[in-house]
Amino acid sequence: MKLVLNEATCDGHGQCVGAAPELLAFGSNGKVKILKAEIDDSELEEAQDACDLCPTQSLSLQP
Ligand code: SF4
Repeated sequence: MKLVLNEATCDGHGQCVGAAPELLAFGSNGKVKILKAEIDDSELEEAQDACDLCPTQSLSLQP
């Protein structure tokens, strides 16, 4: 699975970074940046938590 960010709707407050600090970090542009887009099975739950916590639905997991 691939973790995808829609920068256009990301508010940059970082709930997702708290949920998945190994996958996401604060960027220099007021948004977050994806540290690791290709999600292994062992990281799937963490990535899904980040997607679920995002208040603007800016994160998604795609095949
Ligand atoms: S939780 Fe969503 S809107 Fe907030 S920083 Fe993360 S991706 Fe952006």
